[in-house]
Amino acid sequence: MRPRPSPRRLRQPRRRPSSTGSDVTSFRTPRARTSRGAFSIAPRRSRMGDVTDAGTRCPCGSGLSYGECCGPIHVGARRAATAEQLMRSRYCAFALGDTAYVLSSWHPSTRPTSLDTEPDVVWRRLDVLRSAGGGPFDTTGTVEFRARWRQGDDRGVLHERSRFERAAGAWLYVDGELLPD
Ligand SMILES: [Zn+2]
Repeated sequence: MRPRPSPRRLRQPRRRPSSTGSDVTSFRTPRARTSRGAFSIAPRRSRMGDVTDAGTRCPCGSGLSYGECCGPIHVGARRAATAEQLMRSRYCAFALGDTAYVLSSWHPSTRPTSLDTEPDVVWRRLDVLRSAGGGPFDTTGTVEFRARWRQGDDRGVLHERSRFERAAGAWLYVDGELLPD
């Protein structure tokens, strides 16, 4: 149920993403989401510096500053209270290049050992469409979102329904399902 891509396919640059054959997801970059979906690939690192200011608008699009929103979650000062907060913090980590946080917020049962780098992908915008469960008193939850990316002249949208579980009080990303753009 979770086909893995052939290495050759993963190496093909600028391939138009396709939802077929994809199931385990979460913020994979366009090239890699042909297989396991989104947020599975390492974020770019180059723009880390310009968004780590606590007073900057948070990249997750919440309307809050980074210091009020995903910043404290990234450094471990606060836990994501809901699955949606965790999902936002993971998108934000991808946008900022915080690979360590992406891995640490992944459920051990599905967490990859490492993340491929995809330095030229820019995550431009996140829209959370709907959530189910994932609240402070839930143990599971799903969050559906659309995340816009750019890679060189290519642009696209990642549409995914991610699945989360709460273990020992901490929300973790389990996997996700790619949906049509
Ligand atoms: Zn945020």
